Amino acid sequence: MAKTFEEVWNNCLDIIKDNVTYQSFKTWFEPIKPLKLEGTVLTIQVPSQFFYEWLEEHYISLLRKTIRKELGTEGRLEYSIIMDNGMQTSKPYAVRYPGVNTGATKNPPVAMPLDLNANTIKNPFIIPGLKKLNVDSRLNPNYSFDNFVEGDCNRLARSAGYAVGQNPGNTSFNPLLIYGGVGLGKTHLAHAIGIEVKNNFPNKTVLYVSAEQFTQQFIDSVKNNNQNDFVHFYQMIDVLIMDDVQFFAGKEKTQDVFFHIFNQLHQSRKQIVLTADKPPVEMQGMEQRLLSRFKWGLSADLQVPELETRIAILHKKLYADGIDMPMEVVEYLAYSINTNVRELEGALISLLAQASLNKKTITLELAKSMIDKFVKNTAREVSIDYIQKVVCDYFDLPIELLKSKTRKREVVQARQIVMYFAKSMTKSSLASIGAQCGGKDHATVLHACRTVNNLIDTDKQFRGYIHELDKKISIQ
Ligand code: ADP
Ligand code: MG
Repeated sequence: MAKTFEEVWNNCLDIIKDNVTYQSFKTWFEPIKPLKLEGTVLTIQVPSQFFYEWLEEHYISLLRKTIRKELGTEGRLEYSIIMDNGMQTSKPYAVRYPGVNTGATKNPPVAMPLDLNANTIKNPFIIPGLKKLNVDSRLNPNYSFDNFVEGDCNRLARSAGYAVGQNPGNTSFNPLLIYGGVGLGKTHLAHAIGIEVKNNFPNKTVLYVSAEQFTQQFIDSVKNNNQNDFVHFYQMIDVLIMDDVQFFAGKEKTQDVFFHIFNQLHQSRKQIVLTADKPPVEMQGMEQRLLSRFKWGLSADLQVPELETRIAILHKKLYADGIDMPMEVVEYLAYSINTNVRELEGALISLLAQASLNKKTITLELAKSMIDKFVKNTAREVSIDYIQKVVCDYFDLPIELLKSKTRKREVVQARQIVMYFAKSMTKSSLASIGAQCGGKDHATVLHACRTVNNLIDTDKQFRGYIHELDKKISIQ
């Protein structure tokens, strides 16, 4: 008995679910609808061109394997790309300004791409006279996509943001909610989206506003009795970027007014970009109906950047400022500051300031003493990662070996030294130290510490190693 296209796709989903993260599944697979099965060709419907491209770029081999498993080696997948509002008849995607000749033209009706036209007609508030109102976008040109370093920590949010910048209001990411802890780049990314829209569609009205400013404006409007103007103003925006929406918590009136603006904009296919310090499910003091709207589009998080990304961010900043800094110093900063990007930048800036004020060259020593002062209050400790790096550099061993289970003599000794320093310089438990050094248990770590102490007492050359390593690792 032949399977229906729905059964086939459901089976595929079962396999896919086990092979991707929950968030990816929700984002990229749940919105897909199976359409038909003809012979061994399954057709699925995806919400947009971007969506299709993303699937092809990131999940092609998984999809291929899955389809073959379900439909045999002849199995094939075809996409049907739709426009998510189903209203426009013309080509849904890649509507762009030619890039020239746009600027502040006086005759939008002819020069405008179809999506803008469609919007202006639909929205009764937007009458042509008002449309020309010049709204200052309040975007910071430094916070562009060019200046935003991509990494695993921000890939989904960045890509979705970029897609929105290419096609505001016409992706399935509406609203796009970017969330994450402080200093991880939410504001930067939010501006980048606005800048990208402005570059691609100079005539679109983009507005960046923090939830705090919005609240203040609203309070003022109530005081001055011009609430209607306030609401109308916001309803004219094509791309509304609202930063730090958690600020609305507990402010019911402001939430109400934002709710109405949100609905109006969303209905007219205007783009809404939101940032928050936590995902909608964890937001307190927010009306349910507002929260449920936040979840309509895509919520993408920003994580603490991994080491490579931290190094790349530092390089980017240094390059932008035309500054040369020894690699070891860059690495040291990246290793030591692993909280967020804002602190990383802060450390870099104060290091540069110190160096130029005191006319010192930037050395590892200077970096160490500065970091010490810089993060004094945050009770910082050396990280095991850093200890591992220094020890491995010193003995010229690849870190992977040290973290592996190998019992090669020189690796075992380096590993013991790492454990010794980790025990004396960090607050990590023996078990956790062991786990990070080749999956050993706490007894092995204790044994390592004893061995190293013995060798320090008995072996002069070994004592020399430890002394030098100690200097390299410690923060004076
Ligand atoms: P948040 O709004 O999440 O608190 P910000 O957007 O203000 O964080 O970012 C803090 C600083 O870190 C900014 O100067 C920003 O330019 C920088 N930053 C954050 N993420 C990145 C990144 N991926 N690449 C380059 N700079 C970044
Ligand atoms: Mg911010």
